[in-house]
Amino acid sequence: MWRGRTVTVHRAGVAVSVVVVGAGVAGTACARALVDSKVAVRVLERGHVPGGRMASKRYGDRRADIGAGYFTVSDDRFAAVVAQWREAGLAREWTDTLAVHDGSGWSSTTGPARWAAPGGLRSLVEHLASGLDVRVRSAVEWVEPGPRVDGTAVDAVVLAMPGPQAARLLDPRLTAVRDAVDGQGWRPALVATLEYPDRSWEDFKGVFVNDHPVLRAVFDDGSRRGDGAPVLVAHTGHEFAESFVADAPEAAADIEGAVRELLTLPAAARVHVHRWTFATPTTPNPAPFFLGDDLVGVAGDAWGSPKVETAWLSGTLLGRALAEKLA
Ligand SMILES: Cc1cc2nc3c(=O)[nH]c(=O)nc-3n(C[C@H](O)[C@H](O)[C@H](O)COP(=O)(O)OP(=O)(O)OC[C@H]3O[C@@H](n4cnc5c(N)ncnc54)[C@H](O)[C@@H]3O)c2cc1C
Repeated sequence: MWRGRTVTVHRAGVAVSVVVVGAGVAGTACARALVDSKVAVRVLERGHVPGGRMASKRYGDRRADIGAGYFTVSDDRFAAVVAQWREAGLAREWTDTLAVHDGSGWSSTTGPARWAAPGGLRSLVEHLASGLDVRVRSAVEWVEPGPRVDGTAVDAVVLAMPGPQAARLLDPRLTAVRDAVDGQGWRPALVATLEYPDRSWEDFKGVFVNDHPVLRAVFDDGSRRGDGAPVLVAHTGHEFAESFVADAPEAAADIEGAVRELLTLPAAARVHVHRWTFATPTTPNPAPFFLGDDLVGVAGDAWGSPKVETAWLSGTLLGRALAEKLA
């Protein structure tokens, strides 16, 4: 639980303090927009690192991307940030073409450039967070009218996370923001990192798998990260994930077997499974964020089509709107 004091800055005699809950890409972008508008902000993150679902988890001496597989860029404002990541050597265009597998066999799909990060996608959120006041291992438990965060008065609070996670924190008296998040449906996913003795596959970057009882996609983590490591990352469908609520590692054999059969591979040497309870929103909201009169706001990838770019934009636009309201 957060027991820190309020961050307060005096501008023209007015005390301003904002707490952003969640250091995923949305919360970090929101805090960055607020700081750019000279609003003092503290980010509280319950995990031990920032990143959220842009997650790069260390297995042995290497990180694998176990959340978002890549990101795409269509908005000019996001493109400007991505250009900074590229210049810093943190992001690179990975591929515009991925394979597709369905009942009729193999084909491919060419679309927008898919971007990846040599240091893992989490490194991009860390870059966005540099210089911000981010407190990790700081789980917020209660947000009430005032607004107050775990009993501490603030001028505004932003919940930058999936709606069901936000709903757990909200006092029932915050009816408008509760209404904004209550309608959100979310689906789970399992993500398995498969380590092999060597790269026994060729010309493979990734595949979208349709109509499969287990798999939705498999990506070559060594290709997208650029280190050539013999590591694949497999994403399951939500129906399969729903049958492994308590014990995700139990799913390892099924996922490994499905990947082995699909790509005609030898057995993986090690398999690590991560469960995302709230992986993907099912009901994208047409608005870019929510901000109530009580100065409690919500941002994240449910506010548009569910992807990294949407989450960044949602957080950024909410941060700008809040800064204007507080000015
Ligand atoms: C398996 C998977 C595959 C994906 N693939 C892609 C893809 O290929 N391309 C793409 O663009 N997007 C993809 N996405 C979606 C992308 O990861 C998300 O859109 C984006 O990362 C969401 O960011 P966010 O900041 O909105 O939420 P999150 O990243 O979920 O951040 C929320 C943060 O809030 C924190 N938090 C929650 N409760 C509290 C609390 N009480 N106190 C403090 N902190 C709290 C959490 O720990 C978390 O860090 C994928 C997601 C998943 C799970």
